Amino acid sequence: MAGRILVVEDTPELRAMICSVLARDGHSVETAADGVTGLARASSREFDALVLDIGLPGIDGLELLEQLRAHGSRVPILLLTSRSAVADRVAGLDAGADDYLAKPFAPQELNARVRALLRRRALERPRAEMICGPLRVEPGTLRVWINDEEKRLTRREYELLLLLMRRAGEVLSRDDLSVGLWGRPHDPSSNTIDVHVRNLRQKLGRGARGSIKTVRGVGYKLAVTTGARG
Ligand code: CA
Repeated sequence: MAGRILVVEDTPELRAMICSVLARDGHSVETAADGVTGLARASSREFDALVLDIGLPGIDGLELLEQLRAHGSRVPILLLTSRSAVADRVAGLDAGADDYLAKPFAPQELNARVRALLRRRALERPRAEMICGPLRVEPGTLRVWINDEEKRLTRREYELLLLLMRRAGEVLSRDDLSVGLWGRPHDPSSNTIDVHVRNLRQKLGRGARGSIKTVRGVGYKLAVTTGARG
């Protein structure tokens, strides 16, 4: 599956390497060498995915990401981070990145991650709405309502909610959720899943946050009991 990819990376050698790796996989690639140009490019036309470095001159990758999401862009974003910077990864996922890749990385891994982003995007087809207690979602449009009040979720939070709703009442392990969200097993040293669950609960607010139950030592489940309205 090939797509149109924007690469925002300031190091010329790395930028060239990423471009040639993606081009070899059949993608059409555009580039930006700093955050301001990257944001302008990403805002001015449709891309199927972004490969975004965090450390950039001008505005950094995290700020670029936040600004894009704040303007409603849901383009899938793969963040490039340094291997040691756990705080960067958590901040990136919190800000709405879809996945991250620590530098240095193997070319095949970059291609695999980008293909996974494109595949998930392609799988999102409009379907009938799903209802569970106070929660109502429209798959395909990324819209969510709690007791008829619309909530704004990041793409990740939305996918997490859909996973829980599709298997409401079942306990999903962190592995189940990680495979569903990123296509790979849970990394026990990472608290990414828990961060997303915490954020999702916060956004669901009083009306529905209690619907997502923590099952100690196992994972999470969405309660199937009908929530009180109001
Ligand atoms: Ca950089």
